[in-house]
Amino acid sequence: MSKYKLISIIIILIITLITLSIHPTNQIVLYNYHPTFEISNKFDPKANIKKVIGGSIDDVNVDTNKINFSKPGKYPITYSYNNIKTTITIELKDTLKPDLEVQELTIDLGMKVEARDLIKTSYDSNRSKIKFKQNYQFNEVGDQKVEIVICRGSNCVTKQSVVHILPKDTTPPEIIGIRNLSVLKDSDIDLLSSVSVKDNQDDSPILTIDSSNLDISKVGDYQITYHAKDRSLNTVKETCIVSVVENKKIGSYDQTNEKVVYLTFDDGPSENTQKVLEILDVYDVKATFFVTGTNEEYYYLIKKAHEAGHTIGLHTYVHEYDQIYNSSSAYFSDLKRIEDLVYSQIGLIPKYIRFPGGSSNKVSKKYCHKIMSKLTKEVINRGYQYYDWNEDSEDGSGELSVKQLIKNATASTDNNIILLFHDANGKENSLKALGPVIQYYQKKGYVFKGIDDNSYVVHHSVDN
Ligand SMILES: [Zn+2]
Repeated sequence: MSKYKLISIIIILIITLITLSIHPTNQIVLYNYHPTFEISNKFDPKANIKKVIGGSIDDVNVDTNKINFSKPGKYPITYSYNNIKTTITIELKDTLKPDLEVQELTIDLGMKVEARDLIKTSYDSNRSKIKFKQNYQFNEVGDQKVEIVICRGSNCVTKQSVVHILPKDTTPPEIIGIRNLSVLKDSDIDLLSSVSVKDNQDDSPILTIDSSNLDISKVGDYQITYHAKDRSLNTVKETCIVSVVENKKIGSYDQTNEKVVYLTFDDGPSENTQKVLEILDVYDVKATFFVTGTNEEYYYLIKKAHEAGHTIGLHTYVHEYDQIYNSSSAYFSDLKRIEDLVYSQIGLIPKYIRFPGGSSNKVSKKYCHKIMSKLTKEVINRGYQYYDWNEDSEDGSGELSVKQLIKNATASTDNNIILLFHDANGKENSLKALGPVIQYYQKKGYVFKGIDDNSYVVHHSVDN
């Protein structure tokens, strides 16, 4: 080794020793002793630490207990690490203008208005002070332009908005869908799901229910009360009777050994119903009709089918997805309409339901999130049963040939088959396929039955 290199190494060693003695290990190094922070910004106390020699910033404890984060001022903040404590002062400042959003407001004449009613976003009322720029009266129908002053400390902004003043409202809201109900004992019933409220002026009146009388664990009749209130404090109440009945589920989710076809016809009565009934007669078989209210001239055929020994079930009154699947109260009000229609024809209300599109329909997603999950549960709680299918002729999807319909409808090898057909205007091919399908299954030893309280139940998996 040359003399020159040896000297270099000694010099480097000396420099290293000097550096270590200046910066002993295990000491926090802070880089900003008098930082300021905006009250609206997120405060990270560890951002004050430049580095920890011989350790990690994560190991430093920070005590910010003395800081009141909603009040501007100077506060101490203490850092501790390996018994070394360092206290520094930070200043909390509030210099940014408040950024609250305002919205327009609609009221009825005579209602009190506070400036804060026009603030759209939620805010901390300790920090932000909100007032009208002038003393507005709001005592005339029409649009009142307003200016709202929003202050935080000495920082103020003025924002403009409009209060729409409607005539004085003395009309109470209307509660829709109230009816006496049967519900299953111990079920998890949602009594608000079939009831809605509307008001002549208030878009969102408040609906509440007093069901404190109701004991869902005990069979019996209970009175419950619905209350509705609009923004002008007009109120209305309505009562109904909830009958808690024994929790006896309809039908069986397991197939029996007996070979049975449950022929089901959706969407009738129609111009085809009479012919369907005649074909069923020819083969002496019973079926189920899930009926609608869309063809008034054929309502009498509901009665005729019932009298011929077929089962009547409830499909929908209007069969418009955007209406019935708009909300659970919309569904139940439609169900009530089809119940009333069926009752007027046959003198009883069936408990058998088929959901339009089946319980697995995806189309309802467009109108109401998770509505099928809610309805499938709610109808069971109310003592109904709903029936999907395990065999589909697919006559609901476009113009299939008679041959194709027969092929689709005879594909099942199950013991218990719930077979979907449609009884609707123009479905001529369904009529033509019907005889051959019945013959096929009869030859295989199947009997045809209408749905009853003991028959097989198919539920699809719900997808909304
Ligand atoms: Zn249908």
